[in-house]
Amino acid sequence: MSDPRVPGEGSVIELPCGETVRFGDLDLGMREYQCDCGDAHAVVMDVHPPERFLPDFLVEVLREAIDTTSEEMREFGTPHLMGIVMEEFPEAVVAEDASEDADVGYALVWVADFDARRLHEVVVELVIELMEHAVSHGEDEGALREFEGMMHEFDVSAFVDQYRDERDLDAEDPYA
Ligand SMILES: [Zn+2]
Repeated sequence: MSDPRVPGEGSVIELPCGETVRFGDLDLGMREYQCDCGDAHAVVMDVHPPERFLPDFLVEVLREAIDTTSEEMREFGTPHLMGIVMEEFPEAVVAEDASEDADVGYALVWVADFDARRLHEVVVELVIELMEHAVSHGEDEGALREFEGMMHEFDVSAFVDQYRDERDLDAEDPYA
């Protein structure tokens, strides 16, 4: 957890690019932070639902398939997705605990070196890998071939574009 603290504005997060941002500068509806370094960095909070990145049915599948043994987050959700991203890109994502800054409204925040769209692609790619891994360790070879066939046709970039367009139209979900 980062110090120094600035009274009233919370702790400072050191970003992968070397710039810093205060907890209080990130609000709940923010998907991307326009940084002083000139880049936009994806911002994700624990209060954002995993449906920000994945369709409902896939979130359901993951909830059932993934054994979440962690005491703090039993149900598969955004923290797990970001955990997977951080495992793959440890240098590109920072995670901060904001739970002591009670007034910011979120307990965990992740800021990525890449922008929100790229992060979305990364999440989808990693989830597909995860599922492929799960299917390939199953007994059912037919299911594996079927899944690989499905994924062969699957265009991550096109999916992300379409998903983001649809989410933008969905006013009920400000975090998408
Ligand atoms: Zn930056």
